[in-house]
Amino acid sequence: MCGIVGYIGPRQCKGLLFDGLKRLEYRGYDSAGIALIADGSIHVAKSEGKLKELESHLNRLPSSSTVGMGHTRWATHGPPTTDNAHPHVSGHIALIQNGSIDNYQDIKEELVADGVVFKSQTDTEVVLHLMNKITVKTPDFGKALVEL
Ligand code: GLU
Repeated sequence: MCGIVGYIGPRQCKGLLFDGLKRLEYRGYDSAGIALIADGSIHVAKSEGKLKELESHLNRLPSSSTVGMGHTRWATHGPPTTDNAHPHVSGHIALIQNGSIDNYQDIKEELVADGVVFKSQTDTEVVLHLMNKITVKTPDFGKALVEL
């Protein structure tokens, strides 16, 4: 279980996302994080522990962003650390996940054998690296998702 909130639209969304996470905090107390897009880059703030821990990191996120997402984590794979907090980012992809991936260990072993370096102990991160791999061949993100 976890809480997920996303926004894309005309308004600056950092505060909107944080307010959304407050409403969803009961769905995950292990860590929280927000990723925003601004000036063509992904910006991330995340923190282990309750949502109020994240609040002190929000000033490092750009206020101008109008696209973003947030997560409160209920850990299934990997301890409740900042490294394991979502969103996970690699290249031009930021990812948040709810639930668990039963065969993640098999997928991770294949990716590691291909030279992929993992930054977290979560099951979620395998999807991030698979997406990165597929979008090299299939740059259209929607089509890449179908291939996944
Ligand atoms: N399985 C993921 C993790 O442990 C997601 C957990 C959740 O749904 O919050 O990070």
